Amino acid sequence: MPKKKQKKKVFITRKIPETSTKLLTKAGYEVESFKYSNKKITRRQLLKKVRGCTAILSLLTERIDGEVMDAAGDQLKVVSNYAVGFDNINLQDAKDRGIKVGNTPCQEVNDAVSEMAMTFVMTLARQINQADKFTKAGKYKTWDPLLMIGHSLVGKTLGIIGLGRIGSGLAERAAEGFGLKILYHDIKRDKNFEKKYKAVYKSKTDLLKQSDFVSLHVPLLESTRHLISKKELKAMKKTAYLINTSRGPVVDELELNKALLNGDIAGAAIDVYECEPHIDCNPNDTYSLKRLDTIIMTPHIASATIEAREKMAELAAKNIINGVKGVKMPSQVKPKK
Ligand code: NAD
Repeated sequence: MPKKKQKKKVFITRKIPETSTKLLTKAGYEVESFKYSNKKITRRQLLKKVRGCTAILSLLTERIDGEVMDAAGDQLKVVSNYAVGFDNINLQDAKDRGIKVGNTPCQEVNDAVSEMAMTFVMTLARQINQADKFTKAGKYKTWDPLLMIGHSLVGKTLGIIGLGRIGSGLAERAAEGFGLKILYHDIKRDKNFEKKYKAVYKSKTDLLKQSDFVSLHVPLLESTRHLISKKELKAMKKTAYLINTSRGPVVDELELNKALLNGDIAGAAIDVYECEPHIDCNPNDTYSLKRLDTIIMTPHIASATIEAREKMAELAAKNIINGVKGVKMPSQVKPKK
């Protein structure tokens, strides 16, 4: 009897929408997935589960380095990250082993994250978080003409640092939908964009000095780690707000905490954390963001829309199917030079 051809294996490091498994199974893969969506796989389990896999479908919570790649074995061809960011993957280790890396940028994610950043702008401007707590605490007794007076957005200045897919999505919404003036800072200029949205290119310091809202949309790189620290927070207006939906370590959280306590800035809204998944790097520290009323904190949900998560699942599977076949992946992360 001819020997049955062994199916290629994929391990998915977290429970994600079924779309990935369906597509991979249809393409002839044997798929195994970690059981939980709300629990992280241990390093030990991960090293065991990837053994013999042709591809790993990973999440940003898993550090995928040479150790994991070697544990998988020589047949490993693709690491497909279920995320836009890929700072959890060691690109040098992947390159050294000839392994392709994929990620999942798409219009649906751009929409979800830029909508979230816009939501933060509006929530901060109108103190929605404080108003919600106040009302539920039974403190609303009579209409008060001086209660919780916020800011209108029309004519205010939004400074965007990192004008890529998400940053430009936010600029478009803020300028066209809400009448905000747009300043931006990036390592490259986009003259067409400037013309289209009357956006003005600024140095980082000038942007910080002039903006009423500053929203961060850079990837986490060595050059962007603590892009916002003490000096930058001091440069901002005392009435300004900081928004971070990019990656936690882009902001020096201890300095953010101090700036909020000292009233150096008016408030902040963050979806990502420096020591994620911990919301405080040092929970026993006197500085703890969660004790402050002036900050809104959400659990890394900026891309959490049905549309984005489904599309990410589709792209993550297609990155594997194409990458293993040796044809163009929907989104391949450029290998390290
Ligand atoms: P992108 O690559 O399209 O845009 C990033 C922009 O940052 C680029 O224009 C780049 O030139 C610019 N940049 C790089 N280094 C810079 C620096 N030192 N100073 C100023 N600008 C710099 O990426 P994107 O799709 O817009 O996503 C941005 C980031 O958002 C991702 O890398 C990811 O970390 C994060 N993200 C978070 C969530 C979430 O759920 N919170 C979801 C998706 C993406």
